[in-house]
Amino acid sequence: MKEVIEVSNLSVYYENNEAIKNISFKADQGQLIGIVGPNGAGKSTLMKAVLGLEKYRGNVSILGKRVQEVRKQISYVPQRNQIDWDFPVLVEDVVMMGRASHIAWYKRPGKRDKEIVQECLDKVGMTKFSKRQIGELSGGQQQRVFIARSLAQQADIFFLDEPFVGIDVTSEEIIIDLLRELKRQQKTVFVVHHDLSKVQDYFDQLLLINKELIQFGAVEKVYTPEILQQTYKGSLALFGTDDHKMVVTPQ
Ligand code: ADP
Ligand code: MG
Repeated sequence: MKEVIEVSNLSVYYENNEAIKNISFKADQGQLIGIVGPNGAGKSTLMKAVLGLEKYRGNVSILGKRVQEVRKQISYVPQRNQIDWDFPVLVEDVVMMGRASHIAWYKRPGKRDKEIVQECLDKVGMTKFSKRQIGELSGGQQQRVFIARSLAQQADIFFLDEPFVGIDVTSEEIIIDLLRELKRQQKTVFVVHHDLSKVQDYFDQLLLINKELIQFGAVEKVYTPEILQQTYKGSLALFGTDDHKMVVTPQ
């Protein structure tokens, strides 16, 4: 399998506080990778550092290059609370922003760009909302629009920060189906994720962090009570169920 990302000894400091420390991992193409850990564990910081949006120490190599050289191939959907939902912009314009890296700065969006925007809105079931203001939508609908924007970019590596938080079940199903389709197309998808009960169903691999990397590997290997305790420390309750799935509640 082709390696898409190599991170070595990645650390981020906010003033003098170390948010993440010495994180190293390598990820292969075509994987759906969950990033989990307690609140404040540094999940968002890790994502932003890998994307070159935070200052860091260490090394990040994406497709064998520096992130600045492969921006077009990378798509990022930030955590909902980092987006200004009152910003007056139409749904279809948000999705068109995904085309920005494909359109020369001196040109307007072409026919093909408009078609792609419509196709992506259709994929997330938001076609009839295309002329609405983004602020008028529900949380799940807003997240679907951002997923459409991400799809419109036609990237190879996707980074989504808590895409399932604060959304309805229908939106969650639409989004996870699309992420699975991306995987089938050999794309690589990183998802910061909160709900541990879905981890086995959703992901191939898991990256567990609590400031430092606790484990990174196949879900079957690393989704164990011991590793979860190590990651979440006291803030976790574990239960067994009949179908052998572990149901876990971060507190
Ligand atoms: P998570 O996404 O896992 O909840 P974050 O990456 O947001 O964690 O935050 C990790 C730590 O860094 C937390 O202690 C948080 O308070 C701190 N932090 C995050 N962003 C900033 C910032 N811009 N300035 C200062 N501290 C920050
Ligand atoms: Mg976060």
